Amino acid sequence: MKAAYLHVPFCQQICHYCDFSKVFIENQPVDDYLNALHDEVEATLRLSPPDAPLHSIFIGGGTPTALEISQLKKLLSTVQELVLPICESDAEFTVEANPNDLNLATLRELKAGGVNRLSIGQQAFQDAILQTIGRTHRAHDIVDVVERARKVGIEQISIDLMYGLPGQTVADWEESLQKAIALNVDHISAYSLQVEPKTVFYNLHMRGKLPLPPEDDEADMFELLTERLTEAGFAQYEISNFAQPGCESRHNLTYWNNDEYLGAGAGAHGYIQGVRTVNIRPVAKYIEGVRAGSPHLEMHTVTVRERMEEELFLGLRKSEGVSYERFKGKFGMEMPDPFQNTIQTFIEKKLLTEVNGSVKLTDEGRLLGNEVFQSFLGLDLPV
Ligand code: SF4
Repeated sequence: MKAAYLHVPFCQQICHYCDFSKVFIENQPVDDYLNALHDEVEATLRLSPPDAPLHSIFIGGGTPTALEISQLKKLLSTVQELVLPICESDAEFTVEANPNDLNLATLRELKAGGVNRLSIGQQAFQDAILQTIGRTHRAHDIVDVVERARKVGIEQISIDLMYGLPGQTVADWEESLQKAIALNVDHISAYSLQVEPKTVFYNLHMRGKLPLPPEDDEADMFELLTERLTEAGFAQYEISNFAQPGCESRHNLTYWNNDEYLGAGAGAHGYIQGVRTVNIRPVAKYIEGVRAGSPHLEMHTVTVRERMEEELFLGLRKSEGVSYERFKGKFGMEMPDPFQNTIQTFIEKKLLTEVNGSVKLTDEGRLLGNEVFQSFLGLDLPV
């Protein structure tokens, strides 16, 4: 286990595109939830203590900063009591936040609790677009927030952006990128909108009422993203993630390196001692589950074959790609022929390339990443 993820499913608003595990905070049993979260982390660490210090903690959501200060204190005290003592001394400690939740009192509380990195959901820099996607902050709020967070002493700031949004033009996107760069943040994540079932956008889309940008515009937005952020000194270390030198997210890399992590909270996923778990999603049922001894909805022992597939499926998302040597070190065998053959096919199509003993996506391959990743699933492997 290398990292810990704690999920806080409460939000002050429900965004129109969101299919995460979240609920509107009003009338929710937040205090009971925080007690259950504490108990789940404690029980998991008692049963599966890590054999080396963790390199990162991430509190995500939902919106952890939607909590009242006393509740936020309780959450941070869980981390201080149970997780920080088993972390490296310079572990990355990120909390996810929305710009309009980050007042001075909240920022001070986060800093005092050991948080050294914020991941802020900005998404766009046009008020009209923010309104369309159901966000309640305004475009300019972020400028003060970043300044305040720096003053309080938060070391690293990441912002999330979205493209391919309804009504968004390539010019809007370019403006968002320019404004994001001007904030001098350390890290930017940028994802294209996925219209997921059970969201407001899905219903609108089914009724033909979601004015998404044409596919060509979306491809242009992705190219612009890479171009502008690279010019500004960010390295694209994963398809959708860009960092200033030394500011890559250790926590995100846990997933793409296919390393194990503790995952706690309603709907959270975990991966410990070769077993992937998915927790119960409804808040009340999650609390009941913890009280009854287990909040798991699903448990799955990952087979060697699945681990190999994941190594390619996840690892190719990283700019450094997948190292043949690392593969051999992990699995005690060379990359199997079906993988080698698939790699050769994509090298011929110029979607993959081999550099210094690793296979990685080309610029063109990044545009068609999902097609490449999926080709490594379901092959006839000798395991
Ligand atoms: S996007 Fe974030 S703030 Fe919006 S509903 Fe989803 S979890 Fe809550």
